[in-house]
Amino acid sequence: MDFRDDVNLDSSQVEDVGGSGGGGGGGGGFPGGMVIGGGGIVSLIVLVIVFVVNNLGGGTDQPAQQRQPSSNLSQQCRTGKDADQSEKCRVVGVVNSIQDYWKTQISDYRPAKTVLYSGSLRTACGAASSAVGPFYCPGDQRVYLDLSFFDQLQSQFGAKGGPFAQAYVIAHEYGHHAQDLQGELSQGNSVATELQADCYAGVWAKHAVETGFYDKPFTTAEMAEALDAAAAVGDDRIQQRTQGRIDPESFTHGSSEQRVNALNRGYKIGEPAKCAQADLV
Ligand SMILES: [Zn+2]
Repeated sequence: MDFRDDVNLDSSQVEDVGGSGGGGGGGGGFPGGMVIGGGGIVSLIVLVIVFVVNNLGGGTDQPAQQRQPSSNLSQQCRTGKDADQSEKCRVVGVVNSIQDYWKTQISDYRPAKTVLYSGSLRTACGAASSAVGPFYCPGDQRVYLDLSFFDQLQSQFGAKGGPFAQAYVIAHEYGHHAQDLQGELSQGNSVATELQADCYAGVWAKHAVETGFYDKPFTTAEMAEALDAAAAVGDDRIQQRTQGRIDPESFTHGSSEQRVNALNRGYKIGEPAKCAQADLV
């Protein structure tokens, strides 16, 4: 899964807020619903505000060492070469490719930002924490991702991991965004919704090379990484995760076999229209 060295990344689609550490009561946290422009200065100001709020707010609830700094992705992640070398820049490249694909499929596609965080933060869907796993929030149309989930995928869920497994996770979340834009998010039951997002992830994988971000189509081995991850996060393999109002992901997702089949179907057929929820359950 190599990116084309010279392809330009659009880092404005991903925002790294670091560890805001505001999970405890009254401790500030990331201001929910605040709209942040692409400018690094704005992010920096927000960071400073968050930092000050956390420190003024009697920040005894969170040890300082748990706070990770945010990073300025616009400086770090410029080209595909950066995406091949850093995990955060790879997320930028994957997100760019996924959204470029969906732009060709959905008229008036609205890009959704991915927010990288660590620890906990507040979102329009309530409090997010790394325990919840990656999720898409319809309330602010953002994808929330704590990169430590990728380690958990291996250590807790028993997946083999790898860059393509990570890309599948992200593509699944953007599948929910595509559903949201097309009015499909609350159409059927949660299993059908989740399986459609898996199918949409497969459709993107099929067309990823056409977005211009990758050197060559994904190999069978790379696809196997994604299928392995899909199997690992099937409901029959994992225990029920923390349930909270924020998280469509904490509802049932379907069995490992169903998830693998849905992803494979999307990848083989390559058409969103063939990912109808009724055909997947
Ligand atoms: Zn999902």
